[in-house]
Amino acid sequence: MDAYFRFLARTGPSPLGIEPARAEGSYIYDQEGKKYLDLVAGVSALPLGHRHPRLVEALRRQSERYWHVMVYGEFLQDATLDLARELASVLPPSLQTLYPVNSGTEATEAALKLAKRATGRMKIVAARGAYHGNTQGSMSVMGYEPRKRPYVPLIPGVEFIRFNSFDDLEKIDTQTAAVILETIQGGAGFIEPRPDYLPAVKRRCEETGALLILDEIQTGYGRTGKMFGFEHYGAVPDILVGGKALGGGFPIGALNASPELMRHFTRPPLGHITTFGGHPVVNAVAAETLRVIKEENLAARAAELEAYIRTRLVHPLIEEIRGKGLMLALIMRDASLAERLVREALREGVLLFWLLYEPRAVRLTPPLTITREELDQGLEVILGLLNKWV
Ligand code: PMP
Repeated sequence: MDAYFRFLARTGPSPLGIEPARAEGSYIYDQEGKKYLDLVAGVSALPLGHRHPRLVEALRRQSERYWHVMVYGEFLQDATLDLARELASVLPPSLQTLYPVNSGTEATEAALKLAKRATGRMKIVAARGAYHGNTQGSMSVMGYEPRKRPYVPLIPGVEFIRFNSFDDLEKIDTQTAAVILETIQGGAGFIEPRPDYLPAVKRRCEETGALLILDEIQTGYGRTGKMFGFEHYGAVPDILVGGKALGGGFPIGALNASPELMRHFTRPPLGHITTFGGHPVVNAVAAETLRVIKEENLAARAAELEAYIRTRLVHPLIEEIRGKGLMLALIMRDASLAERLVREALREGVLLFWLLYEPRAVRLTPPLTITREELDQGLEVILGLLNKWV
């Protein structure tokens, strides 16, 4: 541990500290040979678990052809086109054009820039409790003061609304370039939009000429029981921000919009550029990830397993289970229970995690490929611990 903390920057005071030796399917093995059932899936970044054979093969195939050859946008790289086509096949025509980047926060940055450029306006509306990434533009639309205050000044012109408040939609006006929302708020506690909320936001955007940006970095690609979260709630964004699961375990971010909207980055030219965005090896794995999710109907599987988890995880210490599909958060009676559950489950070989801003929450986001037996094993450990504490 000491060497890690000397040579590597830390993010917090008490990291989980597992030292992985290898990982396969739903399991991570540490250097002592201890086996952990992974119910976090790289914070929703591993929809197919660890090293899915089809991803290993896609990785091998592309890595034997070519790796990085040129900055994004100059060469015609077929692996990147393959990914764009796979994405287009699961998105409405108005979102068919992909701008591939390297991380979620970069996709947020690009979306905010595109909205400003396309509308000629400067104001952005974001939600309290929002998380869209950690670079300065993304932090400007973060809806959690304690984490951003030490880094001010950030980008001016951001106004905050309460997620799910219809009254606050008045703040979206003809000065507004874009409204940015997570389809389901992640860091705030896996909070779903009320049934008519997103359509009302979309209507208000249409009335005022503002663009709707939905951040599906965490809700995208089958996790919530549909390919994209917005399919549950009846509103299609103008700009879709993605990442995480799309890469199948490799770093990725994605911006999808119409060809007309995306063209703004070329007038004037080089409006958004990236060296590694569209990386052919990453994109070959990403395209294959999407194919497996589609072919194996993993979105439907996420919905089925949600129903199963909700029937099994009924316990007096769990106040509520929030979220959708396999994006679930156990809201514990108090924060100390959430802390204890994650630490003690880890000791028993089950990996759980917390959420960013809701201290009572325990994250349950297993791979979409988890078997019923594996899931049962995890749920039994959770229930066994909770039963000891009532
Ligand atoms: N938006 C949401 C909703 C996220 O969950 C995350 C990552 N937790 C991000 C943006 C940022 O993505 P990245 O860490 O890849 O920059």
